[in-house]
Amino acid sequence: MFGYINSVETMGLVDGPGIRFVVFMQGCHLRCLFCHNPETWKLEAGLKITSDELVKRILKYKNYYGKEGGVTFSGGEPLVQTDFLIDTLKKCKKNNIHTCLDTAGFGGTDNEEVLKYTDLVMMDIKAIEPDKYFKLVGQKIEQSLEFLNLCRRLDKRLWIRQVIVPGINDNEEYIRKLKQFLKGYNVEKVEFLPYTTIGIPKYEKLGLKYRLSDTEAMDKQKCEELYKLYQSI
Ligand code: SF4
Repeated sequence: MFGYINSVETMGLVDGPGIRFVVFMQGCHLRCLFCHNPETWKLEAGLKITSDELVKRILKYKNYYGKEGGVTFSGGEPLVQTDFLIDTLKKCKKNNIHTCLDTAGFGGTDNEEVLKYTDLVMMDIKAIEPDKYFKLVGQKIEQSLEFLNLCRRLDKRLWIRQVIVPGINDNEEYIRKLKQFLKGYNVEKVEFLPYTTIGIPKYEKLGLKYRLSDTEAMDKQKCEELYKLYQSI
């Protein structure tokens, strides 16, 4: 079986616990206003690779992963290549590799099967209200909520990632709503990621319009303060 990947990182330290091999996969049906990886949107714009070849590369670094580390499938949106993802995850688990999925919960065709072979889910929350979600990513919120609910039903380890964007969600009201919303889930860890403008040159290169061009990068200190607020509620 083959799939499309954008790139890999052999010693990732920020995409899940421990030292990780990170696979950035091609394909995404969302169009987040703040996306800094537009080159991953089109499935076939990436490198074509078999699951065997990918697993071989992952196993090459097995000694570095230790007890905590392993492999993280990120993107793009890994769920878009459901069959390839399942096949690769299965092979990783057969080799006792810890598996992590960095996802927005959108675009999968068999999420339950994917989660069977996933040890930890890192879920990107885009927005928690339907109209805001649609404005931000161009799709309806239901699929991502269903994915979150499935994680809860299957009792999956769950980390949450929230990009904080000036003028969109960098306010106390949103942080309080988010806290309330996440109380319904068994969340192990929450990360706030400050919005950056590093993706803008990629849009120019691809001839795409960047729709947040009037928005400045998120102030890191303010982002930390909002995180402290989140923790204190
Ligand atoms: S889900 Fe990720 S890859 Fe897809 S558009 Fe949003 S930020 Fe970009």
